[in-house]
Amino acid sequence: MSQRIVIVGGGTAGWLTAAYLAKTLRADQQGGAQITLIESPEIGIIGVGEGTFPTIRATLAALGVSEARFLRESSSTFKQGVHFVDWAQAGTDYFHPFNLPFTADGKDLSPYWLLGGRNEPFADAVTIQGGVVQAGRGPKRLSDPDFQGPMNYAYHFDAARFADFLRGVGVEAGVTHRLGKVEGVHRGEDGDITHLSAGELGDIAGDLFIDCSGFRARLIGEAMGAPFRAVDDVLFNDRALAVQVPYADPEAPIVPATVATAHEAGWTWDIGLRERRGTGYVFSSRHTDEARAETVLRGYLGPEADHLPTRLLKFQTGYRQQQWIGNCVAVGLSAGFFEPLESTGIMLIEVAAALIGEAYPFGDRGARAAAARNFNGLMIGRYERVVDFLKLHYCLSRRPEPYWRDNVATIPESLADKLAQWRRRPVSSFDFIGDLETFLPASYQYIFHGMGGQADLSETVGLYPEAARAMAAKAFGQVRAAGAEALKHLPAHRALVEAYYARAG
Ligand SMILES: Cc1cc2nc3c(=O)[nH]c(=O)nc-3n(C[C@H](O)[C@H](O)[C@H](O)COP(=O)(O)OP(=O)(O)OC[C@H]3O[C@@H](n4cnc5c(N)ncnc54)[C@H](O)[C@@H]3O)c2cc1C
Repeated sequence: MSQRIVIVGGGTAGWLTAAYLAKTLRADQQGGAQITLIESPEIGIIGVGEGTFPTIRATLAALGVSEARFLRESSSTFKQGVHFVDWAQAGTDYFHPFNLPFTADGKDLSPYWLLGGRNEPFADAVTIQGGVVQAGRGPKRLSDPDFQGPMNYAYHFDAARFADFLRGVGVEAGVTHRLGKVEGVHRGEDGDITHLSAGELGDIAGDLFIDCSGFRARLIGEAMGAPFRAVDDVLFNDRALAVQVPYADPEAPIVPATVATAHEAGWTWDIGLRERRGTGYVFSSRHTDEARAETVLRGYLGPEADHLPTRLLKFQTGYRQQQWIGNCVAVGLSAGFFEPLESTGIMLIEVAAALIGEAYPFGDRGARAAAARNFNGLMIGRYERVVDFLKLHYCLSRRPEPYWRDNVATIPESLADKLAQWRRRPVSSFDFIGDLETFLPASYQYIFHGMGGQADLSETVGLYPEAARAMAAKAFGQVRAAGAEALKHLPAHRALVEAYYARAG
C-alpha cells in the first residue's frame, strides 16, 4: 500500500528530498509514495548554500532532468574544487581538486612526491585539474554526455533559484505542494506524529514526517526533543556575512572553483555565478565582532562593493544526536550544520534523501525502528567524521592570530591520531571507515599536503626502491603532458556556461 510522506520546509533540503523521493518512489504512479510538501512563505528559506560537491551530479541525474535545464533554471556554473588562499600562512595557497590523484600502476604517488623534493604543489603533481582551473576552463565539452566529463565536477548556483528549480521538478513528479505554516505537531500515545495542523490548511496526516524546517527544527527539535550536539569547541565559526557582487563586466571570466581565503578570524568564500559572485565572510563571534568582520569582508572585496548590502547569518555548529525518531526524520539544517567549508550541507542532504528512499516502504513500527537505527548510525557517523575533515583545514595553520592558534590547540583525538601517523607514513584508506566517510582519502591527502603537513618518510626510504621511483617520475611526467593536452580541448568556463544556457531541453 502506498505510504504518505509529509515534508515540512521548502528550502534546498525540502525540495531536494521531495523531488528525489517523488522520482525514485514513483509519486506520479498509482501505488507510488504520496508526497506532500508544506512550506511557509512567511518564514522563507535561508537563501545561502551555493556550492556543491560532485555527488550532486548523480542526484540530479536521478531526477531525470537535462543538465542544460538544471544549469539554466538554477543559474548554475561549474565548480572543480576549492582554491585555498592564505590558510597555511599569509602568501601561501593550495588547491583541493575534485579529480582523484593519478596513480602509477594503482600505486599512491604521494610518497614519491614527498621523497622527490616536493618541487610543485601536491595537487599539481598528481592531477591536471589545478591547471585547468587556473586557465579558466570548464570541466567538460558541450559534446560530453549530461552530468559527465573528463574532469570531476560539481556546481555553484543561486540558492533561491535552485529551490525553485527543484520545486518545478518535484511538482512535475507528483509532489503535492501546500503553502502554510505548521503551527501544531500532534503525537499519538506511542509518541509518533499523527498529524500536523497548519492554520487554514487544516490537519495533515502522514506515515512519515520529514523535518526540513531549517534551523527551527520544528519537528525533530521542538516536537520530538532530539538532543543537539554542539561542536563549537572544535569548529569555531558561528556567523557569516554574505554579499552578492554583480560583475562590472557581464562578459567577465567565471572562476571554475570556489576561492576560500583565510582571514584573521575566519575565511571568505567567493564563488562565480553567471551574473554575479556570491561572497561572504564566515567567522567566529568569540574571536571577532560583526563590525570588524564587515571591515575585513569589505577590505577583501575592494571599493567596487562598498555600496552593496551585507546580510548577517547566525548559526550553531553541530548536529542532532538522533535524526530519525519514531516516524519523524530530519534532513538539512534541522539535522545539523557545520559551516560552508567544503559544501557539506547539501551533500549530507543528498545522503539523507537517498537513505530515506532506501528505507521505503517504512513498514510497521518495528520495521521503522530498524530503519531509524540504520539511518541514525550512518548519518550521525557521517556528521562525526566531517568534523575531523573540516578541522584538518584549520589545525595545521601557522597563522599567528588567536583564532588560528586556538584552532591548532583544539584537535580532536581521532584527528590527532591520524596526523601523528601521516607525519611518518602516507595516508591510507585503512585510516577511514568507508561507509561513514563523506570525503575520500584523496581529499585528506590534498588538504594535509596542501597545508604543509610535515610528512617525513626518511625512516622508510627503503620501501621505495629505484625502479618504483622511476615509475613514479614517469607518472608525474604523464600528468604534465595530460594537463597540456586537456587545455587544447576544454572550453573557457563562461563560454561553456553560455552554450549550455542556450541549449534546448
Ligand atoms: C552562511 C551559510 C553558507 C552556506 N553555504 C553552503 C554551501 O556553500 N554549500 C552547502 O552545501 N551548504 C551550505 N550551507 C548550508 C545550506 O544553506 C543548507 O544546507 C541548505 O540551504 C538547506 O537548508 P534547509 O532547506 O535545511 O533550510 P531553509 O532554507 O532554512 O528552509 C527551511 C524551510 O522550512 C520552512 N519552515 C520553517 N518553519 C516552518 C513551519 N512552521 N511551517 C512551514 N514551513 C516552515 C521555511 O519556510 C523554509 O521553506 C550554508 C549555510 C549557511 C548558513
